[in-house]
Amino acid sequence: MFEGNIISAAKVCALLKKACFVCKNCGNIINKTVNDYFSIPKMICSNKNCRAEMSLDLSSSTYVNIQELEIQQPIDLMKNPEDPPRSIKAFLENSEGIYSGRVNVVGTVMKKSVRPNLPIFEIYVKSNSISLNESYQKIEVRDILNPDLIETLNQLGRKRNIVDILSNYLIPQIKGYDIVKKAIFLQQIKGCIKFLPDGSPLRRDSHILLITDPGIGKSTMLRRIARLFPQNSYASITTATGGDLQPML
Ligand SMILES: [Zn+2]
Repeated sequence: MFEGNIISAAKVCALLKKACFVCKNCGNIINKTVNDYFSIPKMICSNKNCRAEMSLDLSSSTYVNIQELEIQQPIDLMKNPEDPPRSIKAFLENSEGIYSGRVNVVGTVMKKSVRPNLPIFEIYVKSNSISLNESYQKIEVRDILNPDLIETLNQLGRKRNIVDILSNYLIPQIKGYDIVKKAIFLQQIKGCIKFLPDGSPLRRDSHILLITDPGIGKSTMLRRIARLFPQNSYASITTATGGDLQPML
């Protein structure tokens, strides 16, 4: 089992699970459970006098849901958050559809050959259970909303320096660097979707590239944001001249 953040999720597809083979020569029918994700299964007729290649009857075969996910190592669990975060592809069987968040993955490792005739493999995870990490499960706003909270939110909302207050609250362990904190805060708040006159949407997410002097606490900021907002994905580059450039996406 390991913990990670979903950074990309494909739609749920159908995976051939029990292949139904029919022999066009003698009428023999064989059902076979498929465990390989990367090739179409083949079967030779088991009838001793026939031995013809059987054809796959897709309409009589059975399928399960499958979803392909990319899971990234959480930056707050990395020894050095300036290292490039690693990610792995996971195939979730019987998926009802999961698209974001911090998750616990239970699965087995499988490999796919990536270079014909060479013993080089890409590593994947085959999983039957990917569940949202308990501490990141969504809180329904209506469950915590009460008149006192609404009043507090209204009072806060009337403050002119609300962005300063909240951006300081976001990373309280670092003193100063208000502009950097405010930039990160506004990036995490995101915008709203806008539409151009021709109807095409402008995305609401924005990227941030943080270039600063060394030692202002970028790694601490990054760890804190990673814990609070697991839907982010990160990249990191350490320059050859001494590691003073660290972009955050
Ligand atoms: Zn046959």
